[in-house]
Amino acid sequence: MTFKDFSFVPELLDGLDAMGFEKPTPIQEQAIPLILDNQDLIACAQTGTGKTAAFVLPILHKIFSSDKRHLNTLIIAPTRELALQIDQQVEGLSYFLGVSSIPVYGGGDGETFVQQKRALEQGAELVIATPGRLIALLNSGQIKFNDLQHLVLDEADRMLDMGFFNDILKIISYLPAKRQTILFSATMPPNIRKLASKILTDPKQVNIAISKPAEGINQQAYVVYENQKKNLLKNILSNPDFKSIIVFASTKENVKTLEKELVYQDFEVKGFHSDLDQSEREKIMIGFKSKKTRILIGTDILSRGIDVEGIDLVINYDTPSDPEDYIHRIGRTARAESQGTAITFINEKDQRKFFRIESLIGKDIPKLEIPESLGKGPEYDPSKNRGDVKKKVFNKQKKNFKKRRPAENKNTPS
Ligand code: ADP
Ligand code: MG
Repeated sequence: MTFKDFSFVPELLDGLDAMGFEKPTPIQEQAIPLILDNQDLIACAQTGTGKTAAFVLPILHKIFSSDKRHLNTLIIAPTRELALQIDQQVEGLSYFLGVSSIPVYGGGDGETFVQQKRALEQGAELVIATPGRLIALLNSGQIKFNDLQHLVLDEADRMLDMGFFNDILKIISYLPAKRQTILFSATMPPNIRKLASKILTDPKQVNIAISKPAEGINQQAYVVYENQKKNLLKNILSNPDFKSIIVFASTKENVKTLEKELVYQDFEVKGFHSDLDQSEREKIMIGFKSKKTRILIGTDILSRGIDVEGIDLVINYDTPSDPEDYIHRIGRTARAESQGTAITFINEKDQRKFFRIESLIGKDIPKLEIPESLGKGPEYDPSKNRGDVKKKVFNKQKKNFKKRRPAENKNTPS
């Protein structure tokens, strides 16, 4: 199957050519015809499978020949990084179509808010927004989506994790009831089904997700004591074969400490966390994408959706608590069927967590010997240390939930 089989307008095929997309990915193959056919849709496929183009392509095709182009499509994404990324793909794919898009997100100053409002009033065709800022704009009463044809919720699972359930319903209360609604998600937990039943009409479903990491990822783990991790990390980072690396840590404090330590050792490294402002974050992402920065250290705010080509190594400095997060994190490497390595450090108390990850993906991940110079590591015996894992995970989720909400609200001018 090729993109020509969708009978896209030639200008769109030119955009695909320019982006170097040769044939549709499985989710694109299945979702595109349904979206072209104006169906409501729930689509579920793991990270890195090309979900963005799966909705952007048919929508661009439709906007191109629509007579209701002004504020034709609203795409909601959980974070500004994702909104910007979607906007970039839209710009690339729509290059020859003359369809305009605008990302709308919080975090800028008052002037940005005014600029975004003006751009919306002047007739962007496609709006890509984060929930907080969008609600502020809708509340201001000056933006009306009266002619809206398409509503897309991207990374819906992530949005619900971040506590946006009611915000989404609020946004929808401002939208025309007659519209096509499309929901994309990497996972399909019950709360997504609940949301879908509220906002979609008679939806078709496409399901390609079997919570499994992409084939091209070489997964490995080291069983270590907490105090061995730093040296093991430096040891791995010293391997020049790895050219572009993401390191995940569990807290922003860990991110900052590791960043300092590695800078001190002359590694080209940058930390990415929620204390940085918007322009700092963008600068860091540009440096990393252009391969000027070899190593990016971040918390899970990096793990979903962020799309950088050619990452060859992902290191989980801390074992992720949520097995789904593991899949999202390691999905940062081996994008679109290339090769990559994912290495996880497992300390004694994280063994049980790692065992749950192995259960989810349905296989044992090879445990490598730590270098002799670091001493001996612990045994891998996840049947020990079962005790408090559940409670801790629960508490951490509660904490994250509280942390995330005010951060997004802060960006919403009142
Ligand atoms: P997801 O949203 O499923 O995590 P993305 O939409 O971000 O995945 O796509 C992942 C990567 O694959 C991006 O770099 C994108 O440009 C690329 N990609 C998407 N579709 C195709 C395709 N048909 N051919 C080649 N590359 C593609
Ligand atoms: Mg995506």
